[in-house]
Amino acid sequence: MKKTFTLLCAAMVSATLANAQQDSLTIRKIYDEALVNGKSYESLRYLCKNIGQRISGSANAQKAVEWSKKLMESYGFDKVYLQEVMVPHWVRGEKETAFIIDGKNRIPVPIAALGMTVATPKEGITANVIEVQSLKDVEALGEAVIKGKIVFFNRPFDPRFIETGHAYGTAGDQRFMGPAVAAKYGAVGVIVRSLTEALDDFPHTGATLVDKDGKNIPAAAISTKAANKLSIMLKMRKLPLVKFYFKQSCQLLPDVLSYNVVGELTGTEHPNKFITVGGHLDSWDLAEGAHDDGTGVMQSAEALRVFKAIGYRPKNSVRAVFFMNEENGHKGGLKYAELAAQNKEEHIAAIETDEGGFTPRGFSFSDVSKEFIQKVNTNWKAILEPYEVDQLTIGGAGTDIEPMKEKLPGVILIGFRPDSQRYFDIHHTPNDVFENVNKRELELGGAGIAALIYLIDQHGL
Ligand SMILES: [Zn+2]
Repeated sequence: MKKTFTLLCAAMVSATLANAQQDSLTIRKIYDEALVNGKSYESLRYLCKNIGQRISGSANAQKAVEWSKKLMESYGFDKVYLQEVMVPHWVRGEKETAFIIDGKNRIPVPIAALGMTVATPKEGITANVIEVQSLKDVEALGEAVIKGKIVFFNRPFDPRFIETGHAYGTAGDQRFMGPAVAAKYGAVGVIVRSLTEALDDFPHTGATLVDKDGKNIPAAAISTKAANKLSIMLKMRKLPLVKFYFKQSCQLLPDVLSYNVVGELTGTEHPNKFITVGGHLDSWDLAEGAHDDGTGVMQSAEALRVFKAIGYRPKNSVRAVFFMNEENGHKGGLKYAELAAQNKEEHIAAIETDEGGFTPRGFSFSDVSKEFIQKVNTNWKAILEPYEVDQLTIGGAGTDIEPMKEKLPGVILIGFRPDSQRYFDIHHTPNDVFENVNKRELELGGAGIAALIYLIDQHGL
């Protein structure tokens, strides 16, 4: 009896060792393929340089959809198809103009209308400015002070966060909610300090909340340098000497039919169980959307391409999804989750890569227990360590896959975590261009994602 048990234990240990060795070999192959024959960088170049900006509803977004489908077909995936989704169609119109009015002086400052916001009257808006640090400030000042003014949200990024995404998260309410809150108290316009720690002349656009049936006021982001200048002048001169003028002509047009682009390697053992990886194909209109999120979609397709290239046939179906409309509506993510639930697909995990194509660090697992993340670390940290993608933590996953949580119970949502230090320098600005993506960093990310998918496919979660 004892002898049988010992033999059994020995057999189990050697099977585990063989498994671990197989995992190491496959992950090495994944990296070799991605680093030697990688396709993501040149594909990203095409997306950024030959198509360019691709805001939802635009002709360029449609071009990007058609090209992405062809790209996935050229990679030889088992299935490639489009998922219909209606998306908002917001257009910026003419370039915005803005001045700080200091007595007789007019000082031009760079602004960019926030996504989904409304136009000013044709002649623009001129008003006194109230500088605030938070939504609470607006509520505390109330209608007596806010009415008829331009509210200037100027709370900077908190530099103490090591992960810059947290600084973005904690400053972001000003942009997303600020205009709606200020409108409630009778403000005529809103100017928001750009969501970045970088001190420069580039306003960072981004979505703001609008009420389709309610009262909306025009809102724009102002560059951080100009925000500092305005703040100093307000403090020095006091009201009513300093006023602000801005003019923008953006418009929300009727919704447009667009698509998520989906590529799939069908599982050999469990074709109706899925591991999804994705990013978003749409970008803001001001940029090429290289890091946000051209790198994410290219890494997603690359992960599947690498599997094909090394001859790895996943047991479960693996999908690359290029989501549409992450930036101003999340309609693509909502649609994907809705259809997956309708089709009774079982999703094991969904990974999102939407934090830039920088040096990979690891992955964060959303809404999991301490025990869960400990187990993931025990099982996989050592095998990912040589590739420096071994920080496996509890944290956020991504906007596109978020709706799956509700629609597909049991799915584990995972965010790809690259180094975050430079992302918000260029986020949602004209500087988010292909030239700012590093080939090696991008490829290491795609390989790291493929490695994680492989481990989930082999061992589950
Ligand atoms: Zn993004």
